[in-house]
Amino acid sequence: MQALEQKILTEGIVLSDNVLKVDAFLNHQIDPVLMQKIGKEFAARFKDQGITKIITIEASGIAPAVMAGLELGVPVIFARKYQSLTLKDDLYRAKVYSFTKQTESTIAISNKHIHSTDNVLIIDDFLANGQAALGLADLIHQANANIVGIGIVIEKSFQTGREFLIEKGYRVESLARIQSLNDGKVTFVQE
Ligand code: 5GP
Repeated sequence: MQALEQKILTEGIVLSDNVLKVDAFLNHQIDPVLMQKIGKEFAARFKDQGITKIITIEASGIAPAVMAGLELGVPVIFARKYQSLTLKDDLYRAKVYSFTKQTESTIAISNKHIHSTDNVLIIDDFLANGQAALGLADLIHQANANIVGIGIVIEKSFQTGREFLIEKGYRVESLARIQSLNDGKVTFVQE
């Protein structure tokens, strides 16, 4: 997706050979115009799939997921990263190892919002080794719902996540695919 790649090149900061900082438009400050384009692109790629719900993970997945939900006309659920005081319902829970924090945490959603009849699209901001997406898929499987695919805003294609999720049988659609962050420079996969 051209507009996203351009934004990464102009405003992304390469922190190391495997971490990209995009606090200027996705992870802290949010660019709503770009998010709307991202939502439209996800909707175009997954239209005609009978999607009934979108599931993401707080906090940075929420903006792109809401924009996709707006386009597809379906609700968006975000998994909580800890059990908040108000989240007292029966929960589906999964353990996720965080790539950026290097710690394991539990994510959860209420069983009220997802049912066996749902056709679910997973959306997240980054794909590194696929653990966040796998945790979300685990929650959806616990509800016996169907997973239509996984939509990723920024995929780091030099890490293992894409292959890992495809091997598990999931369709992965990434709007920007980064081939390398070496030498402080972003290069994209040529498609
Ligand atoms: P994975 O679970 O695929 O290993 O990592 C994906 C999760 O880690 C995303 O939800 C995202 O929050 C975080 N993440 C992974 N790589 C990066 C990165 O290069 N930059 C940022 N800002 N977050 C990342």
